[in-house]
Formats: sequence, C-alpha cells, structure tokens
Amino acid sequence: MTSAAPSSTRTEQSAAPFGIFQVRVRRIEALGENFRRFTFEGPDLATFADNGRDQRIKLIFPLPRVGLDPMPTGTDWYQQWRELPADLRNPLRTYTVRNVRNESSEIDVDIAVHGRVGVASAWAVDAAVGDELKIFGPDNRFTGVHGGVDFLPPSGTGGFLLAGDETALPAIASILERLPADSTGEALIEVAADSDRAAVGSCPPGVRLQVLSRDGGPSGSVLVPAVREAAARLLPTVSGAAVEVEDVDIETGLLWEVPADESGGALARQTALYAWLAGEAGVIKTLRRHLVSELGMDRRSVAFMGYWRTGRAENNS
Ligand SMILES: Cc1cc2nc3c(=O)[nH]c(=O)nc-3n(C[C@H](O)[C@H](O)[C@H](O)COP(=O)(O)OP(=O)(O)OC[C@H]3O[C@@H](n4cnc5c(N)ncnc54)[C@H](O)[C@@H]3O)c2cc1C
Repeated sequence: MTSAAPSSTRTEQSAAPFGIFQVRVRRIEALGENFRRFTFEGPDLATFADNGRDQRIKLIFPLPRVGLDPMPTGTDWYQQWRELPADLRNPLRTYTVRNVRNESSEIDVDIAVHGRVGVASAWAVDAAVGDELKIFGPDNRFTGVHGGVDFLPPSGTGGFLLAGDETALPAIASILERLPADSTGEALIEVAADSDRAAVGSCPPGVRLQVLSRDGGPSGSVLVPAVREAAARLLPTVSGAAVEVEDVDIETGLLWEVPADESGGALARQTALYAWLAGEAGVIKTLRRHLVSELGMDRRSVAFMGYWRTGRAENNS
C-alpha cells in the first residue's frame, strides 16, 4: 500500500490532499455481533472529503496516560511521529470511511471487533461517547485527486467481482452504494457471524450480493470456495490462457496490487470484468493465485489488497 503522503494539518489553509482531523465519538451503534459503527463529530469534519468507494483513512489512537498529546501536528507530522520514542508514538490503524455528512460535521467508520487484541479493536470494544481520536483523512478543500482510493475500474467496465472479509465489508458496502444502477456482477463478503449482515447497505439489482458467515471456521473458509464458484460463473467469457505469477511473500511485505495509471487514476482500457479483493493477506494471496495463475485473469483488471495479516499487528504502533 502506498500511504497517502502525510502533508497537512487542519490549522493550515494550504488545501493539501490529506489533513489531521480532531474528532470525538458522538454515537456508537452495534451493527451486528462483531460490528460497531462509530459516528465521529468535530467542526473540522465540515471539510472532510466524501470520495466514497474504498477511501482509506488512518485512525490515530490515544496512548495510556498521555492520550493524544504527543501526536505531532505540523506539516511534517509523519516524519516527526516516526522519530518519537515508542512509548510516545500514538498508534495508527487503517480504516475505511463509511459515510460523510459535512452538513452535521460527522463521519461514520465501521469497525469489525476481534476482541481486546490489537489497539484498534480493544479501543472499539471499550469506547464511549465523548472519547477523542485524531483522524488522518482527505480534505475537500483540495480539488485534485486525494489518493487512498483503490477501487478504480476503467470507465465502461462491463461487470464486477467484489470480494472480501469483514474488514473489507465497509469498503464493499460503500462501493456497492455508488455503483451505477445498471451494474452487474457478484459481491461476496465473509463475516464472522450471521448478524454481521446488518452492516451492508444497498446494492444494484444486477449485482448478486452474498454475505456468508464462517460461523467459527477459519478466515477464508467460506470466501475462497465462494469466489471460486463466482469466478467460474463470471470468468469463462473473459479469461485468457493461465499464466504464472510470481508469489508474494506476505511474511515480509504487504500484498497490495492495484492497477492504476501514473496519476493514480483508472487505467484507460476496456474490460468485461473488474475485480476488487481485500481481506486477510493469506486468503487474498490464495485468491490471487486462483484468478490470475489458474484462470488467466488479466492483472490489469483486478485489485488485490491484504488488509491485515494473521498473527501480525499493523506496522504502525
Ligand atoms: C485500506 C484498509 C482499510 C481497512 N478498513 C477497515 C474497516 O473499515 N473496518 C475494519 O474493521 N477493518 C479495516 N481494515 C483492517 C484493519 O486495519 C486491521 O484489522 C487492523 O489490523 C486492526 O488493528 P488492531 O489494532 O485491532 O489489530 P493489530 O494490532 O493490527 O493486530 C493485532 C492482532 O490482531 C489480529 N487482527 C487484526 N485484524 C484482525 C481481524 N479483523 N480479525 C481477527 N484478527 C485480527 C492480527 O493478526 C494481530 O495478531 C482496513 C485495512 C486496510 C489496509
């Protein structure tokens, strides 16, 4: 993943693509057994950019005793943050913006909780209305392309295959809500429990949406077979010969392959099917091998993103 260049604070009028927003929790809504919707409020959010799709942001968490005070706020905050001693470096975690309401200075972020393991999940389990966070997100006073959006289908794309686990659910739900009404394809989401379906919103009628519970099974146990079946339905008309792709080492690096042009926009090409897959890195690696190596799907038509790795914390603490 190329992190968005950390470049501005909210106190400046430089209209950089991203800035740091000071927020507090306004509302917490249980969307399912393992999903919480956090509505954040703060005057700064009147200028939070509403790009939809899979717009990623960073949540910046308080540290015990010192809270958010050590977090640098200058234009070069990222460099300063990296140079802080570990016990003064506020943890950052990557999330997706689910809704933006500039008129009431609010945004929603849906967090899949996985117990008190990990800074973000532990925070989400214990959070209360009024708790403060900082958010690194896109600024609508910047008029160019903000970056941090990886759903980039070429214009005129014929159909879609969207797949991911609960961490990708907010992105898939946002993508579905803004797809043209005549879109076709399939969307497959693996969640931890049946009740987590509540976190998904509307979907174009021509897109077959399946939210599948793994019901205590391991990550990917229902997503991998479901994607294989969907690919068998969608791909025969577009696939070429099977090709070998080099394996990605997810122990040492991120799995992040996103087709884009040099300015970070969608590639200018025709494609009958555009696929977007995100979730646990090992699961996405398996699906990459299947779609590209076994079925011969053109890599310029598919985005693969490892959103988290089993047994590894996000490298931002
Ligand atoms: C672009 C992008 C967008 C994302 N959007 C969202 C989003 O909108 N909502 C959302 O819930 N997540 C989202 N994620 C995933 C989220 O960033 C990770 O799950 C993150 O690791 C959670 O941080 P943590 O502090 O809870 O756990 P970490 O400190 O990162 O990890 C601690 C332990 O928890 C494990 N772990 C991490 N995540 C999970 C999980 N989901 N289930 C089970 N075990 C886990 C790790 O393997 C590790 O062993 C997104 C990730 C990316 C890259």
